[in-house]
Amino acid sequence: MAYGNYINGRWVKSAGGRTFRSLNPANSKSLGVFQKSNGKDVNRAVTAAKRAYEKWRLVPAPERGGMLLEISARLKKNKRRLGSLVTQEMGKQLSEGLGDVQEAIDVFEYMAGEGRRLFGHTTPSELRNKFACTIRMPLGPVGLITPWNFPIAIPAWKIAPALICGNTIVFKPATDTPRCAVELAKLMDGILPKGVLNLVTGNGREVGAPIVRHPGLRALSFTGSRAVGEFVIANAGVKKVGLELGGKNPIIIMDDADLDLAVDGVIWGAFGTTGQRCTAASRVIVHKNVHDAFVKKLCRRIPKLSIGVGHKCDIGPLVNEAAVEKVDDYVKIGRKERAKLVCGGSRIKGNFYELTVFTNVKPSMRIAQEEIFGPVLSVLKAKGLDDAIAIANDSDYGLSTAIYTQDVNNAFVAIRDLDAGLTYVNSSTIGSEVHLPFGGTKKTGNGTREAGILGIEEFSETKTVYIDYSGILQKAQGIK
Ligand code: NAD
Repeated sequence: MAYGNYINGRWVKSAGGRTFRSLNPANSKSLGVFQKSNGKDVNRAVTAAKRAYEKWRLVPAPERGGMLLEISARLKKNKRRLGSLVTQEMGKQLSEGLGDVQEAIDVFEYMAGEGRRLFGHTTPSELRNKFACTIRMPLGPVGLITPWNFPIAIPAWKIAPALICGNTIVFKPATDTPRCAVELAKLMDGILPKGVLNLVTGNGREVGAPIVRHPGLRALSFTGSRAVGEFVIANAGVKKVGLELGGKNPIIIMDDADLDLAVDGVIWGAFGTTGQRCTAASRVIVHKNVHDAFVKKLCRRIPKLSIGVGHKCDIGPLVNEAAVEKVDDYVKIGRKERAKLVCGGSRIKGNFYELTVFTNVKPSMRIAQEEIFGPVLSVLKAKGLDDAIAIANDSDYGLSTAIYTQDVNNAFVAIRDLDAGLTYVNSSTIGSEVHLPFGGTKKTGNGTREAGILGIEEFSETKTVYIDYSGILQKAQGIK
């Protein structure tokens, strides 16, 4: 089946007439044929978004909220079908696929409520008979570029706040997951006015880059790798840019931790979604007193996890052949660096890879510093809490962190000193909720946060309003 771009409320072929296929990573079956678009398609989408903006910005925000609630309800109705599609298109196991859709349901519902808030401030003027306040303004047409690992949730995290704030959208999904994006757009068809949401499929160079550079877009929200994020910030020109990039997320395990609980958290953090989450735990920093006991427990548990096709397994495949090769390269690098391979380390077949653990990892090793984005865990030893925090912070990234401890003092020191956007106590590095802000420090981003109330900041700007009802010319700062 062939699927079009969605521009100005119509499903259309790309200007160049080229197409590509989306493949199931578990068995290489085709999930459809999609438009391999180019800059001309981006131009069309921007034109449609610009035209639609003039009406959309005037729709009262609570009315826009009503539409978001309708979208949330449609997602709920289609949760099973979409969750299964997530599994088929990017490989995560079914309950995680359903979770991906649930996040979208939640974020549309949450942002619908923001339609009755979108608060500004009122504050006294320094002059008599003068009123001062701020109001929240939409930005205009915005560009959204998303990765494949949460093919429904991440687009929803951007689309819902962008819409509620009154923006129109040009959305480019990842090349590996166009079908999920098309199905998401189909659900909004008939709810949103024409041109409010526009979808252009294709690759990063031919579709992503023209979106980044497009002078007709007022803002860009990008989630993906650091390398592409750096391209985005260098080429976006004067636009508001939100970047959500990678992670090298550590879990600290103290000697007073509940070790079984910590092993549960590490397995979920490191191997959930086959390690392909930006918040995946790829480093475990273990207090020297419990290091060996932890490694023993971990290695006993790993063989009990089933690797297979998404509907009946704990762990699915990697997203594509390139991802398998990247993981395999890092395993070779780890061996070369003289880390000790205690578990896994080999391809299984197709896009499946063994769950892999290295011990004796030093903080400077590449496997401790670089994002692998696969089922590879590095275990590092720490002398105590300060040492563990120093190792955790010795990273370019600052997305998610966790500490397992029964000591409230350790927990609060970690909360204060871990340099990251998220810190979990006695819980893994993954599991964000949509009503709390999400994002990272250092090279994980540029300071924006998605979701929660701060998600509104990314997609709106503030106008300051002064209303003088004195009937005379008043000058601020005491000027006579
Ligand atoms: P990627 O950077 O390769 O691709 C992301 C998107 O950018 C895709 O749609 C891609 O087609 C597009 N793109 C590629 N080149 C482009 C260019 N030159 N100009 C514009 N767009 C371009 O990332 P990926 O492999 O899809 O996703 C994995 C990465 O995403 C990991 O690094 C992961 O940590 C990160 N990620 C971050 C978060 C977060 O919220 N911090 C969430 C999920 C994933």
